[in-house]
Amino acid sequence: MEPIEEFGNDVTISARSTIDGETIVRPATFITTSWDDGHPLDLRVAELLSKYGLRGTFYIPMSAENETMPAAQIRELSLTFEIGAHTLHHAVLTETTEQKAWQEIAGSKSWLENNTGLPCLMFCPPKGKYTNRHLEMVRTAGYLGVRNVELLSLDFPRNNAGIMLLPTTIQAYPHGSLAFAKNAVKRMALKNLLRLMTHSRSTDWPALARSLLHESIRCGGVFHLWGHSWELQETGHWQRLDEALRCMSEVAIQAPSLTNGQICQRALSSNASVDETALREEIAR
Ligand SMILES: [Zn+2]
Repeated sequence: MEPIEEFGNDVTISARSTIDGETIVRPATFITTSWDDGHPLDLRVAELLSKYGLRGTFYIPMSAENETMPAAQIRELSLTFEIGAHTLHHAVLTETTEQKAWQEIAGSKSWLENNTGLPCLMFCPPKGKYTNRHLEMVRTAGYLGVRNVELLSLDFPRNNAGIMLLPTTIQAYPHGSLAFAKNAVKRMALKNLLRLMTHSRSTDWPALARSLLHESIRCGGVFHLWGHSWELQETGHWQRLDEALRCMSEVAIQAPSLTNGQICQRALSSNASVDETALREEIAR
């Protein structure tokens, strides 16, 4: 199999604040969330996001191993949240033919756009498996970006020949340290490995999330929480999710909450800058 080339142009976004007439520039921080598989319990995640004023992107296939929500529910969800594609049949791209992969990538975009009447900008490959060939298909189909399953990252999306690759920071799931280490080693992501060593005292995922969230506020970048609603149900972690989202909402003034697509759009015009003073005034109104 062709190796995945995930390296791209480094992107930085700065934030400008005016304090006592003095302009301070520092790296910007954004927070985002994403939810895979389109299970009807996604509506419970959506309720919690709304409760805390946070944005999210729901990656929804037409069908999957687990139950998926009907078209009317997807339309309703699209009024408040971004809907991204997750293939038509939750197909693992590396386990299918090129022709089938193309149908799954392009077909899921038009299926969602026909259903919601909105452009579908983001794609998420099931199980995080794809090759460079699939990235070319994603680009040809007209997507803006791909959300992958890299964990412990606080990076802005990387521009890979016109497709924005958006990593994640933490999954709403009780992974052990070994799973995080394997995820970083597989991608030769030294920064993520070092981050694991720095933050690994926090074994419960909301505590680890809080610790990484504070690093993102200090150093700039994107804090990205992702998960599956059916998994939250299986692990009984709804209360933990509530706790993590509350923490995120508490920093929303320093770190605005955006959808996956909005973060990719901002990163596409690199060296973009955010006027935090204007943002604070807007939130206060
Ligand atoms: Zn999935």
